[in-house]
Amino acid sequence: MAVTLDLGGAPFVYFPAGEPLAIPGEVVNSDPLEDRSLIDHPRLRRILVRVHPSMPALPYVLHWSDGSDLHAVDDRVISGVVDAKDFHGALVAEVRSVVCRNCAAILRVAVAETAISILSGNLAPRIAEHEFRRNCPVCGERSIPHVVEYLDAA
Ligand SMILES: [Zn+2]
Repeated sequence: MAVTLDLGGAPFVYFPAGEPLAIPGEVVNSDPLEDRSLIDHPRLRRILVRVHPSMPALPYVLHWSDGSDLHAVDDRVISGVVDAKDFHGALVAEVRSVVCRNCAAILRVAVAETAISILSGNLAPRIAEHEFRRNCPVCGERSIPHVVEYLDAA
């Protein structure tokens, strides 16, 4: 089941592996097919964030590059014992399409989103410790900044 977490900053809804990105009675702007491809990703978990009470909940992902066991995080979320330490290695990211500035390939990526006020404590070290994917998976050149994950390439 999805769980609302309030760890400082805006509360967000966390979707453990296997849980479709949906809130009963609410329209969520997300592609169900893409959601299925991300539903048990080894390095990311899907979240919904309501930046303001009058706004719809927007889909983002939390991304880990430190090898954290996300099924263990799921278990702690579901059993209600999760705290901010469980998200120490996580960076908020947005899934979107970008165009490689070298080869013009259109790529589906997760890009770090630093303007969302969740898990924003210690943001500078959080970013410094995160491993970014600097090279385009198609042409191999340094390409789009702030990418944490290429989603449509191995
Ligand atoms: Zn490229």
